[in-house]
This record gives sequence, structure tokens and C-alpha cells, in this order.
Amino acid sequence: MSKIRLRYAPSPTGHLHIGNTRTALMNYLFAKHFGGDFILRIEDTDVERNVDGAIESQFDNMEWLGIIPDESFRAPKDGYGKYMQSQKFDVYKDYSNKLIKQGKAYKCYCTPEELERDREAQLEKGIVAPQYNRKCLLNKVEDETKPYNIRFKVPENKIYKINDIVRGDVEFNSKEIGDFVILKSNGIATYNFAVVVDDYEMKITHVVRGEEHISNTPRQCMIYEAFGWEEPRFCHLTLIVDETKKKLSKRSGNAVFFISQYREQGYLPEAIFNYISLLGWSPNNEQEIFTKDDLVKIFDEKRFTKSPSTFDMVKMKWINSQWIKKMSEEDFTKFVINFVDQTKFDLSNRDQKWVESVLLLFKKELEFGVQINDHLDIFFEKQIDDKTREVLKEFDDLKEMIDFLKKEIEVMEDFSEDNIKTLIKEAGNNSGKKGRDLFMPVRIYTTLSEHGPELAKTISLIGKEKVLENINSIK
Ligand code: GLU
Repeated sequence: MSKIRLRYAPSPTGHLHIGNTRTALMNYLFAKHFGGDFILRIEDTDVERNVDGAIESQFDNMEWLGIIPDESFRAPKDGYGKYMQSQKFDVYKDYSNKLIKQGKAYKCYCTPEELERDREAQLEKGIVAPQYNRKCLLNKVEDETKPYNIRFKVPENKIYKINDIVRGDVEFNSKEIGDFVILKSNGIATYNFAVVVDDYEMKITHVVRGEEHISNTPRQCMIYEAFGWEEPRFCHLTLIVDETKKKLSKRSGNAVFFISQYREQGYLPEAIFNYISLLGWSPNNEQEIFTKDDLVKIFDEKRFTKSPSTFDMVKMKWINSQWIKKMSEEDFTKFVINFVDQTKFDLSNRDQKWVESVLLLFKKELEFGVQINDHLDIFFEKQIDDKTREVLKEFDDLKEMIDFLKKEIEVMEDFSEDNIKTLIKEAGNNSGKKGRDLFMPVRIYTTLSEHGPELAKTISLIGKEKVLENINSIK
């Protein structure tokens, strides 16, 4: 069997988000599982909708996620045509002229106003889905002085059947589809035409894309048929929805939508790759943490789900936290330091070992990088807040124990975690307090906070001077 070839074909109308990343990723896994090629093609014919910088940012974010194309306009290969549609206008024109010569397409001189009038007239007659009335085909007009669109002549009353990998057999009747424009009067090919020409020239064997494209597929089948080209296998992935069951979008409340936002918040590419791979596809066991290599290995196109997948932000965070836990200590500190808000927590003059130890305290706690800033205030200018003061009121007879603690700290030469651990134990033995009655007051007096990581280690890292200041500040 020859190599399979799949492509991700974004229109640069926006940035990489959960939806289009899922498409890119499934194409990638599909291609790599079968030892095939994964291609990135830019569908930028809708010039007015193109957004500046979108191509670069899609590329960069894909690369960051590890969805790396074998071929793209940055790394083109000979023999497959250009990798950007805006560089192929002549190609589409030649192909559309071929269809005209064969009587499979024709020039349409109707102006937008005329088309609109016809449409309205049909609507008035109660036709729900108006179609082009073939005026220019029937009149056989030719007037080179006037602008024209090229329309595809849709075969009449013909059933088009696709065998979709996700949905199985799907049928369309051509009578539902009017003659559609394949090349506009400004010389620009429309999506349904350009996509077929490109997939043919690039020898694409499988088209994996979102289900919003299923209604385009019969038009594309007609074009394959008109040229006598073999169709690729189609695979329309089900919708990704938010928790309100609406299509996931940038307006979906709880979800973060764009990959760049995940990057800014300190998500790991491996975790995003892992989570998105589970949208619309499921492995055959309960495992949830997968590396890219695992996924390439176990990918199975028969396991695409037939119902919409719900994007679950809680799960995404959990998967990210699992990937953070898997990092080495060195990688973690290098990663998380980039997310510290140094206008609040200035680490520039601190001892590097100390910085690393502080950051490492939170390796098990973080779901994503910027959350580090919720934890660092105990090492900086923290004041006790009213809520914490209130908690302290739950405990009686603290004075003696806290005085003991303070005196011992004052004379402690080596302010180490072990020495502090021993001291807390002593404070417990002397006062008869244990469990929460011991640890909560000690924590609040020494750190001014009721929550925090391992107590003795935290106290040691806050440092003797600041801990004494903290104790003294609670009156
Ligand atoms: N440019 C199309 C899109 O962004 C791609 C459609 C396709 O994959 O055929 O939705």
C-alpha cells in the first residue's frame, strides 16, 4: 500500500484553538500511526477574512504542541503543488476552464442584484432553499466584456454516497444542491473547488475534519467525479461542546479557548496534546495519561466517538497537574519561574537554591503555572487577614506554647527543617496539644496563613527573622 497522506488545512481567519487543534492532532495521529505524511496547507482564499499574523501563530503553536508537519509552505516538497492557496490562483483557473470545455461548468454573468431578486422570488413562492435558476446555462450567453463567475453544473437527481469513517454511509441527493460557484469573478476559487484541486494535487488519502464540513462533501464529490479523480476517505469528527452543550467557542464560559492562552497560563504542551487527543476519540481502556508516542501507537480510527465530546476544563487542569507532577525538579523550577509575577514577588536578589526550594514546595499543588502566584505571599510581605485571625480564636491557651516557640527560635542557630520539626514536637509535648490544635496555631503564628505546604520546611524557608516578625505581629 502506498503511503497515506493527511492534511490540516486551516484558513488563517483566526488563531489556533481547541477545535482546530483537535482536527490537526487527529490528522497527525492518523498519519503517524500508519507511517504516513502529515501536511499543513493554508487555505487563504477568503482574503477579506484573513487575520494578520494568524498563519505564523498557528504554525508556532502547532510546533509548540508537537504537531509538526512533514510538509508545509515552510518545508514544501516538489510534485504536490503549492502549500498556500493564494499562490495557486492560476491553477484553479486552469482546472475550472477544463470543466467549462467539457460542459461541466459554465460562465454566469448574473449580477448580485439579479441573483438576490431571483432568490426572493423563489422564497415568495414558498421555496425554502432557493437555488440558482440556471439562467446563464440556458441562455448560453457569452460576453467577454462583462465579469462572470464560473458555476459548476450539478448533475440532476443523482445520489452521492460517502462512506464516512465516523458516520458510516451518508447519502445526499444532488437535487438539494444548486449550481454553485467554483471561481468568482475576481479570479478567486471558492473553498469547495480549491479544496478538491489541492487534495488531488497533494495526493491526500484521508480527509479528517470537523462535522461542519459534512454538507460541503457532496459538492466536493461532484468535482472529483467531474474530473474522474479518486475521492479520499472522509472522516468528519463530531462537535466539541461546552458544559451547556453548545458548540465550544471563545464565548464558552468556563473553557479557555486559544492555545496561546494555555501557554500564557502555564499549561504544558504534552498535557494539552494529551487532553485534546481524548476529544472525539477514546482508547480501549481507562488510562488517561498518554505521551505523544503512546498516542501514535494506540491510535485507532475505528474508535472515533459518534456523539459530541464535552470539553471539560476540570479534566484539562487535572491532566496538566499530572504532567507537572511528572516533571523533574529541575525542569519544574525552570518552567514555573517564568510565571512568577516578579512585580509582586521579586526573586532577582534571592539565593538561587532558596528560590528553587520555595518553588518546589508547590510542585504537587499546581494545576498550571500562574497559580504559583497564589502561594508565594507567605515568603514576602504578608499581613494576617481577618479570616485567619478568626480561625485563631478557635484555639485556647496559646500564650505559653507560642512564647516557648518564640524563645527557642530566637536561640536556634541552625534554622533547618529538621530542627524546626523537633521544636514543633517539643512544643506539642510541653503543651499537651496535638494534631490540628498544635499545627494550626503554629502555622498561623509563623506563616500568617492557615494554609500552606509542609510546615517545618516552609518555616525554615521563610527564615528566622521573618518568622519572629510574624509571631510578634499577632497580638
Ligand atoms: N479551511 C477549512 C477550515 O478551516 C478546511 C476544511 C477542510 O479541511 O476541508 O475549516
